[in-house]
Amino acid sequence: MAGVSAEIIDGKAIAAKVREQVARDVAAFTERTGRTPGLATILVGEDPASAIYVANKRKSAGEVGIASFHHELPADASGEQVEALIEQLNEDDAVSGILCQLPVPDHLDGVHLTGLIDARKDVDGLTPLSAGYLALGREGLRPCTPAGVMVLLAEAGVSLSGAHAVVIGRSNLFGKPMAQLLLAANATVTIAHSRTKDLAAVARTADVLVAAVGRDRMVKGDWIKPGAAVVDVGINRSEDGLHGDVDFAEAVAVAGAITPVPGGVGPMTIAMLLRNTLTAAELVSREEATA
Ligand code: NAP
Repeated sequence: MAGVSAEIIDGKAIAAKVREQVARDVAAFTERTGRTPGLATILVGEDPASAIYVANKRKSAGEVGIASFHHELPADASGEQVEALIEQLNEDDAVSGILCQLPVPDHLDGVHLTGLIDARKDVDGLTPLSAGYLALGREGLRPCTPAGVMVLLAEAGVSLSGAHAVVIGRSNLFGKPMAQLLLAANATVTIAHSRTKDLAAVARTADVLVAAVGRDRMVKGDWIKPGAAVVDVGINRSEDGLHGDVDFAEAVAVAGAITPVPGGVGPMTIAMLLRNTLTAAELVSREEATA
């Protein structure tokens, strides 16, 4: 319909709101317990993009009153060295959350290494135990990006109970936990992937469409049910700039609400990492109080 335009879900503003709330909650936690939540970051090797991501996470932690402990290991660090560091951080009471920046150099097994992080300190929410807690609906730390999407949908007033949510992408990092979170919120969930037949037709049945594929503007306007909420997780860099997995120009005329790229899902990831670090500190403090 000409002239109709979706609500743009402003991830930057919502992430700023989450960070402000985390800062207030950190201050209250510190006042109550006398402790400062701490985030330990591990960077193995010299990948420049990873170094920037970690630096941003540490800076953001400092801004909300979370202490940060940074550990850098050389690109040729052995698996045993990284394991020893993770074990040391698991034991360290000043460390509430541990983040091992991925990817690690090729000779190391990132899945194995992150799996060694104590689930109570797993602020990325990616260990097998955290994934299990999510699948079982038990308390635990949730992966940051899908948790951020849930906040965006809530802030945009998108009703999930009974809605049909289609998640395109089934990665362990995003698609699977996203589907679990939507299911826990009582959506009827379909997970689509590269083998899905007639993806456009499946997408068109979605009241809530989440695209996490990594293919530039793959989701076209005619894949979208009029009025649907569309969440674009993709980050694709091309000669003409940064684009999501959704063709925004087409989708904005059909959807009811949509996240832009950049400025949609992206800013939520660090905000949720900060929230998770505080949650981790609170869980330990609660355990101690009841011990
Ligand atoms: P991934 O591990 O590469 O997974 C991509 C998924 O897309 C797979 O499940 C794959 O299916 C599916 N897929 C690939 N081609 C497809 C096609 N033609 N039709 C339907 N499905 C297709 O990627 P990821 O880690 O989940 O990330 C996805 C995107 O989100 C990337 O652009 C990434 O940069 C972005 N991302 C952004 C953030 C953020 O903070 N904003 C965080 C995480 C990820 P198969 O399983 O069948 O191969």
